[in-house]
Amino acid sequence: MADERRRYLAQQAELGGDEIILATPLAGEAAAPRPQPAAQSPPGPEPKWKSGAPPIPGPGLAVRSPEPALLGNNLAALETLEAVAEHIRTTCCCALGSSRTNGVPGEGDPRARLVLIGEGPGATEDATGRPFVGPAGRLLDGILDAIDVPRETVYITNIVKCRPPQNRKPLPDEIAACLPFLHRQLELLRPKVILALGGTAGEAILGARKSLGELRGKVHTYNGIPLVVTYHPAALLRNPNWKKPTWDDVRIVRQLLDR
Ligand code: URA
Repeated sequence: MADERRRYLAQQAELGGDEIILATPLAGEAAAPRPQPAAQSPPGPEPKWKSGAPPIPGPGLAVRSPEPALLGNNLAALETLEAVAEHIRTTCCCALGSSRTNGVPGEGDPRARLVLIGEGPGATEDATGRPFVGPAGRLLDGILDAIDVPRETVYITNIVKCRPPQNRKPLPDEIAACLPFLHRQLELLRPKVILALGGTAGEAILGARKSLGELRGKVHTYNGIPLVVTYHPAALLRNPNWKKPTWDDVRIVRQLLDR
């Protein structure tokens, strides 16, 4: 083998070459890394939600939360989501507090990238103190699963934190009294995307008097965070024709999360 190398080097010297190229590395020597072709990982199967998903629509309203001083409260002193939740559970900020069983502050991952906002607790939520755990909640869980966003990874809350009697819509003064909690929750959460469920939630968080039809199909911003408005899951239980447009809206949300 040594002779063979000597002969090869002599031949290389005659030819003006100055290196020896071995087919196999010498013992104890690592092989030089080979230049790799440009990385081309094979495309994985497309997630089901992507097929036929609408493009992300254009901008809508751009709103900012009111200055805490304007709200006349001291919620900035509540430094964690749990502190806000405990405050909601233990105090009443409007007449709804006197008829409630439990305040329903909201729940989920404090590092959630997606925050969902409903209208207000229903009977099951009032009884348990947890948001969206009744029939509308089960439908919502299915919708989240369909866009590959498990419920445990999001944060779910409501515009008003106490159940309006007979599930009526919350009144403007009830919404006004409760909104500061939502603003504080969003300030602490700083999600990537917000999804408002139903016209009441959309109108309240955007501070706009507009119909659901006017609020849908646009990407609004709340303190710069993209915000989409869609149908409330309870409305889908009443009218299944709204499932398809809701499916489109949540697929827009899914794309905003990926952006
Ligand atoms: N409807 C809502 O708006 N919120 C809930 O938590 C449950 C039902």
